[in-house]
Amino acid sequence: MMRIDILTLFPEMCCSVLRESIIGRARERGCVEINCRNIRDYTLDKHNRVDDSPYGGGMGMVMQVQPIFDCYESLCEDIGVKPHLIYLTPQGKTLTQKRVVELSKLDNIALLCGHYEGIDERVIEEIVDEEISIGDFVVTGGELPALMLADAISRMLPGVLANEEAFEAESHFNSLLEYPQYTRPFEWHGKQVPEVLISGHHENIARWRREQSLMRTYKRRPDMLDGAELDKKDLAFLAQLKEK
Ligand code: SAM
Repeated sequence: MMRIDILTLFPEMCCSVLRESIIGRARERGCVEINCRNIRDYTLDKHNRVDDSPYGGGMGMVMQVQPIFDCYESLCEDIGVKPHLIYLTPQGKTLTQKRVVELSKLDNIALLCGHYEGIDERVIEEIVDEEISIGDFVVTGGELPALMLADAISRMLPGVLANEEAFEAESHFNSLLEYPQYTRPFEWHGKQVPEVLISGHHENIARWRREQSLMRTYKRRPDMLDGAELDKKDLAFLAQLKEK
C-alpha cells in the first residue's frame, strides 16, 4: 500500500481534511496510508520555536533546519526507507496530471510543508528530492498544496475511485478537458439537457462527448492539444472548428 507522510506545523489542518469524503474512505479501506507528522514535536528549542528571522534582514520568519531535519530522520527511521521527499513551494515545477500519475507509482512519499517566508535553503538542498508548485500564485503555507497533491495521487490508486474509467475521461488525463456533465432535472431555467444524452445510443453519446471535449480544449486550452492522442475523426472535427 502506498504511504504518504505530511511533515507540517499544522497536522490538525491536514488530518481534518484527510478524514473526509473519498480520501477518508480510501484510508479506512486501506487503499492508501496518509499520516501527518508535526515538525514542532522535533524542535530542541526550549521555547518550542521552529523559526527565526532571516539572515540579511527583511520581513517574516524562516523555518529552521533542525526541527525539519530531525522530523525527516525520524520518519526514515520509523518506516525503514528514505521516502521520495517533495517540498511544496511556489518555486517548484508546476504540478501536472502526468506527474501525479508517475508519483502514484511510488511506495513512499513525504510532503514537506513550508510556512512563513519559507524554509532555510540548506535543509532543502540536503533532503529534498523534488520541488513542486501547485500554480503561479502564493498561499500562506504548504498544507493546502500538500493536501491537493496527496488527494490527486490517492485518487489514482487502485480501489480509491469506484472504477478507473471515472478518471480516464477526466480533464488533463489524456491532455483533453472533459465534456460538460448534466444530471436531473431534464429542464432547468428553460435550459434542457442535450437530447443525445437521453437517446440511450451509446455510440452517439460517446462521439458527442468526445467532440465536446475536443471543442472545450480547443477553445479554452489549445496548448493542451499538442499532447493529446487524436484519431482521424478527431482531426477532422478540429479542422472543421478551425474553419469556423
Ligand atoms: N517566500 C516564499 C517565496 O517567495 O518563494 C514563499 C513562502 S509561502 C508564503 C509559505 C509556504 O507556502 C511555502 O514555503 C510553501 O510551502 C507554501 N506555498 C506557497 N505557495 C505555494 C505554491 N504555489 N505551491 C506550493 N506551495 C506553496
